Amino acid sequence: MIINCITGGAFIENCYIVGDEKTMEGILIDPGEQIDDILSEVEKSGLTITKIVNTHNHLDHVAGVEIAKQKLGIPFYIHKKDQPVLDLLPEACKRWPQYSYVVKPDVEGYVEEGDKVEIGSLIADILLVPGHSWGHICLVIEDNIFAGDTLFAGSVGRVDLTGGTSMEELTGSIEAKLFTLPDNYNVFPGHGPATTIGIEKQSNPFFRRSSYS
Ligand SMILES: [Zn+2]
Ligand SMILES: [Zn+2]
Repeated sequence: MIINCITGGAFIENCYIVGDEKTMEGILIDPGEQIDDILSEVEKSGLTITKIVNTHNHLDHVAGVEIAKQKLGIPFYIHKKDQPVLDLLPEACKRWPQYSYVVKPDVEGYVEEGDKVEIGSLIADILLVPGHSWGHICLVIEDNIFAGDTLFAGSVGRVDLTGGTSMEELTGSIEAKLFTLPDNYNVFPGHGPATTIGIEKQSNPFFRRSSYS
């Protein structure tokens, strides 16, 4: 399995190119402002990218979607509950002059909790993990979790941005959906370095409780 993290943009976001070595098919997760770097990595990879699946629709993760769609001719998938976040993208971009080029992309389809998205011979299991935004999803592919802005190394996402609900809902979602996965599963977040479920259960200050020890 190919995992390539491309970091960049004003918010230092991570985009992931995930590919199947057997079929050389791949997807983009959260193509943001670093879209030029992402597209040149796609070209170098030799992968055929067949779709974009976003964890959520904050501007730092969605800024490059329309450009990627046009260059690669591929559909864009999100969770339906995150459509209102995407619909507010033009408003969000007005507050950040460097995002004035951003065009709101059309969505070709919705993914839901329990869906299995094919990437060649790989399967991405879709989990709904709300709190940071209404329709935030995580993708679990083999022992790798693409977590967007839910769980970070040593932290969790904010709940005061568009679509954010409450810290209780966010940490509750993480405990119910992510901390029930095996400790050795890798976590690839939307910002910052990768971590594992085991490390975060043990040392993340938002969850430090005796029940995990
Ligand atoms: Zn976000
Ligand atoms: Zn973010």
